[in-house]
This record gives sequence, structure tokens and C-alpha cells, in this order.
Amino acid sequence: MRTMKAVVFQEKDRIAVADVPMPVPRAGEALIRITATTICGTDVHIVRGEYPVRPGLVLGHEPVGVIHEVGRGLESLYAVGQLVIVGAITPCGQCFYCLNGSHSQCGGAHGGWRFGNTIDGAWAEYLLVPDARANLAPIPHNLSDEDVLLCPDIFSTGLGGAESANIKAGDAVAVFAQGPIGLCATLGAKLRGASLVVGIDAVPERLEMARRFGATVTLNTAEGDPVPRIKRLTEGRGVDVAIEALGRQETFENALRAIRPGGTLSSLGVYSGKLVAPYEPFYAGIGDIKIVTTLCPGGKERMRRLMALVASQRVDLTPLITHRFGLDDIEEAFDLFSHQRDRVMKVALYPGLARDRRRLESVGAGASEAEC
Ligand SMILES: [Zn+2]
Ligand SMILES: [Zn+2]
Repeated sequence: MRTMKAVVFQEKDRIAVADVPMPVPRAGEALIRITATTICGTDVHIVRGEYPVRPGLVLGHEPVGVIHEVGRGLESLYAVGQLVIVGAITPCGQCFYCLNGSHSQCGGAHGGWRFGNTIDGAWAEYLLVPDARANLAPIPHNLSDEDVLLCPDIFSTGLGGAESANIKAGDAVAVFAQGPIGLCATLGAKLRGASLVVGIDAVPERLEMARRFGATVTLNTAEGDPVPRIKRLTEGRGVDVAIEALGRQETFENALRAIRPGGTLSSLGVYSGKLVAPYEPFYAGIGDIKIVTTLCPGGKERMRRLMALVASQRVDLTPLITHRFGLDDIEEAFDLFSHQRDRVMKVALYPGLARDRRRLESVGAGASEAEC
């Protein structure tokens, strides 16, 4: 039996590099060799035991790779050696939910999220892609792995928050929290034509990045309640759209307080426990407020659109990739990311690289490859 190196969840607060069986694609499936992947805030929840997964599961849901082998039925559609990404969400495209347009809810509540959740994920040398015809998205020429590394999840989710809110040209938007997803929501608000984009966070470097990603105003929560300041920026009304990108009661409540009557709260956070909508900012339930939630849109057509934005240089996501590691260095990478040390935003993980930091640094941005 062929084996491969992968990072598996062992138990709460324990992950390890292990040799696991290399998957063999069946009909409709594809095997890709991972060239780059990354760590997501959701992975931190999983490792800390806040979101349960089975022991032995390979984690990770943000794959960039090369097609290594295709199962029956895909031979005329894809070629071995083709560079691809796969969305964090892999809809089947055929079930009740998919055919009703709720691809992320494929098969049932957040069922479209399979990698590193219900099936083995991308922190490995190889990844088995289910429903490959709906999910393998070829990378445009001239784009590096790092150019597209944040498309499978972070960019799709952040932009999705702006799209779900139906932001219109000239809208006033506030984005609560400027982590990677919040920054992509800020970018999404800009792409949708918002005239005022308020980026909110407590970390100065993140606010600086928010300005780079399209925030026209930034507010530091360490300097006091952002909501009165948002009201002052909007003639006392509040914003048309507030995007919540953290998943806490406090940011949810602030987002609610920041929107005008008839406005939209677009929620991207993953909440744990009970969430309360306070009476006043909820306008007693008769304020014509819309609360919408979004799980990362996936599928190859979504990925094609996101990569088209990158290829046309409408967006550049690479400033978010601040650190690089080999897959063997996962514990160090995870520790850095989960504790937000060293001003980390996102880390790139390279399964193809040995445990050698100097070699890694010489690789620098974009370990894209043509050979296979
Ligand atoms: Zn994620
Ligand atoms: Zn489906």
C-alpha cells in the first residue's frame, strides 16, 4: 500500500505528522498532489476541541495542487499535471440543496464543507477530491500558488459576506474585525462599490492592512465604542450594511447597533453558544432589518471567478501571506498562527518542502510549478 505524509488530528490540542494510506480515486474523483495550503481560524477551533472531528482525520481545507490521477469519467475533462485549486466547500451539484442554489449546504446543514471536517483534508502530500467535475478549478497561466492560495476559503468567504448583503454602489459599510476574512470582506465591499467602508479592529497593523484592502476609514476599538463614531460618519443613521467577521456576541451586537433601520447585518463568524439580539438595536423586531449568514461559497465556477479577479489584477491577496513553512513544521506554524504571534496574518504550508527553513526562505513568494 502506498502511503503519504499528512497532518492528522489526534485529540484536543494534539496534531501530528503521520504516514497514512494514499487515496485511490474512484469514478468521479480526482487525486491532486498538494503544492501549497494554509491554516484557517476554523482549524484552530477544531484543534482546540471546540468543533469536533474524528481522531485520525487529516485536517486542512484550502488546497492548491497538481492533478496526479483522475478517476473514471474525468479523462476527457482534466489532464494529469494540470494546476488546480479546489474550494474549501465541495458541493456535489446534484442534491436538493445544490439544485436550490444553497451549494454550501450540500446534503444538509453546512454539509458542503467536507475537507478536514467529514473527509480527509489538504494538510497532506495528496488530497482526494470528491465530485471532481464540480470542484477542480484550473489555475490561470501566470498565477503562482500564493496568488491563488486564499481563493478556496478566505477570499470566497469575505467576498461572500459582501455579496450576501447585496451591497450597492454608494452604500456605507462597516466591517467588524479585520482578520483575513474581515479584510476580504472589506475588499468585497470595495469591489461592490461601497462609498464608505469602515474597517474596525483593535490591532493597528490590521487597520493599516484594512486601508490597503479598501477601507476608507478605520476605527480602533481600543479607543472606545466604534458605534457612535459610525453614526457620526453616516449623518446619525448608521450604515446600510454591517459585516460581522469574528463570531462573537460583542461584534454581532455592535454590527446590529451600527446598521440603520432597513439595513443588513451580514454575518460571517462561526459562533459558539447562544447568540442574543438586544431589543433596542433590533428595533423591537420591526425595523425591517435583514440578518444574513454565509458559509464560504465553493465549486469550480466560484473559484474560476475569484481567480479571474486575481488574474486581471483587480485584487492582490498576497500581502496576507506573512509566513511560510514546510508541512513538517506544522506544530510551529500552528502555534504561531493560533497565538497570532509575529504579526501573522496567514501562513503558507508547503508539503513538498523538507524541514529546512533556509531553503524555504529562498523559495519566497510563489512556489508554483510546471513539472509533474
Ligand atoms: Zn477556513
Ligand atoms: Zn449537493
